[in-house]
Amino acid sequence: MSNTLYQYSTFIAVQNGLYDGDLSLPNLQQRGDFGLGSFNALEGELIALHGKFFHCTNGKAQLASASSRLCWAAVCKFNNDLNINITTNTRLENLKASIEKQIGSKNFLLAIHISGKFSKLKIASVPKQTKPYKTIKEIIDESREFDLHNIQGDAIGFFAPDYMEHIKMPGYHFHFIDNTQTIGGHVLDFELAEGLISLQKLSHFTFELPNSNEFSRLEMPTPQQDEHVPVLADILFPPLKKGG
Ligand SMILES: [Zn+2]
Repeated sequence: MSNTLYQYSTFIAVQNGLYDGDLSLPNLQQRGDFGLGSFNALEGELIALHGKFFHCTNGKAQLASASSRLCWAAVCKFNNDLNINITTNTRLENLKASIEKQIGSKNFLLAIHISGKFSKLKIASVPKQTKPYKTIKEIIDESREFDLHNIQGDAIGFFAPDYMEHIKMPGYHFHFIDNTQTIGGHVLDFELAEGLISLQKLSHFTFELPNSNEFSRLEMPTPQQDEHVPVLADILFPPLKKGG
């Protein structure tokens, strides 16, 4: 069905250390042409744009291998409903405000494609993990960060309402790929010099649970139930991480 967000695994499962999944890249590709995710052992970042699926590691992007397996992913068939033109340098925080104003609500699931020239861009990448796995907070604290300037490319991602918090990470989540399709990763912050924001309201949501022994045995306390479970949205999207 068009207008559907397909998601594999749940946010709370990743938060509690489920870093391996049984979803193959070819299966994911049948579900959409636009989206993001992460590979098994949290090896880098997935970004899908115009039906091409890329694997980012250490700030570099290449086409994802068909033999890849994903530990989580979210994709849709992108159709833009609304566009916002950006003609002056605009910070990510202000772009979020423009999106909220345009949509007029925080209650919808959105697919968001931001294409243009980024005057400043901070991306991060998570290195491949080995067992026994660390906690997600330890891994993110060790992620590598890259500061880029005046780079043309695409930030793509989703906005999820707070009420979805255990299924899908609430708030905004973007991955980036540059125009040469060689640089990419998880977006921490940016300023857009000029460009176009395209939005799609996603009225349907479907998710698939991992079918593994790890998932069946996984304990999944929420941050409210266990102080050791981090509030990941705060860690992944700090206004400015580590003093900038
Ligand atoms: Zn990410």
